[in-house]
Amino acid sequence: DVQINEDVTFEGLILSESTLKGLKASGFERPSPIQLVAIPLGKCGFDLIAEAKSGTGKTVMFGVTALEILQLPSKSLQVLILTPTREIAAQVGDVLSNIGSGHMGLKVAVFIGGLPVEEDRRRAKQCHIAVGTPGRLKHLIDDELLDVSHVRLIIIDEADKLLEPSFEPDIVHIFKTLPLNKQVIAASATYTPELKVFLEDFMRSPIRVNPEEKCLDAGSGVLLGVRQVAALVPHEVNYLNKMKKKIDALVVILSSVPFKQCIVFNNFHGVVENISGTLNSKGWPTEFLSSGIDQPARLRVIKKFYDFKCRVLLSTDLVARGIDVANVNLVINFDVPMTSATYLHRVGRSGRFGTEGLAVTLVEDNSKDLTRLKGLVQDLQFPMQFSPVQNLPAV
Ligand code: ADP
Ligand code: MG
Repeated sequence: DVQINEDVTFEGLILSESTLKGLKASGFERPSPIQLVAIPLGKCGFDLIAEAKSGTGKTVMFGVTALEILQLPSKSLQVLILTPTREIAAQVGDVLSNIGSGHMGLKVAVFIGGLPVEEDRRRAKQCHIAVGTPGRLKHLIDDELLDVSHVRLIIIDEADKLLEPSFEPDIVHIFKTLPLNKQVIAASATYTPELKVFLEDFMRSPIRVNPEEKCLDAGSGVLLGVRQVAALVPHEVNYLNKMKKKIDALVVILSSVPFKQCIVFNNFHGVVENISGTLNSKGWPTEFLSSGIDQPARLRVIKKFYDFKCRVLLSTDLVARGIDVANVNLVINFDVPMTSATYLHRVGRSGRFGTEGLAVTLVEDNSKDLTRLKGLVQDLQFPMQFSPVQNLPAV
């Protein structure tokens, strides 16, 4: 009884080519509700408490997230996945190997009790993702067979079981061995209030995702202090006219709204480069990030933005993950994000740590996009002001 949204494919979640390839090879085309809400947040680096009925695809949810945060040329162990039983560990290992089949050189290893530790030795030295039961993983870490110093993501599958008294001391012990700066994802069908309190001790401002409530946890404070406005742009049928109208609107906003730094988001990477070029020619120095430019160049752009050498950054969702720049107080959605999670993530780039911010979503009047935006607003239950571009409030 998993309700799949026919309008969204995994492509719509803007995943890497390698991950899309593996998903396709494994026969997964459309994300399940938990995958739809949790993957965009997970790949942006948020800590998540993911709550969804069993059989709704939580494994692929955290599996895809793990694949997206992996840095593969590096040979180090980067993701640790804890499961309560040996069978689940093996199964999760299989799913990861399958959906990870497009990532060349990826090594997934399963470590479970009941098999000789000697056989784990070699595999422990060369895996990117380790899946296992707490006892065996603890053993391998303590014996320095498993080097966890580069772990960037830990996943607690079946969190309700893993935090029962029989497992809890091992989990706490494993956590203490991991780097402080890491992402934590918990997956479970149910969470008691005590479990949530317990988990929050391990997490940093976790976001609770529960597709049944159709709402991301607004109480997590991600969007506190960010005013949200939809700027209506006249409808155009012709693509070039549409782009021109929207870029004009962008220039009006940049010129009339006082801001420190601004990120402009777009759903498609080819477009980011064009808008950046057009803005530059109109006298707005901008930089852009997209999957079309190589990693060293991306890092240079991000550094320039951090160092305040550039005030306007254009980006797709893929590459803006984890960007945390205190001066960003204006976010512009050049187009309406595909999912509420993506909306939340983008807008969460401004107003970090409770500072004031403004988020403006450009949307054509009388369009499907406007309908989608109204749907997002309803999903997220945030107040959104609809206003012509000329009358936007100040930050
Ligand atoms: P959970 O951990 O939430 O109990 P699983 O991750 O074990 O659920 O997934 C349950 C089943 O759903 C598996 O057989 C899996 O292959 C299937 N599944 C997961 N995601 C999708 C999807 N996007 N499309 C189709 N089937 C899926
Ligand atoms: Mg499961």
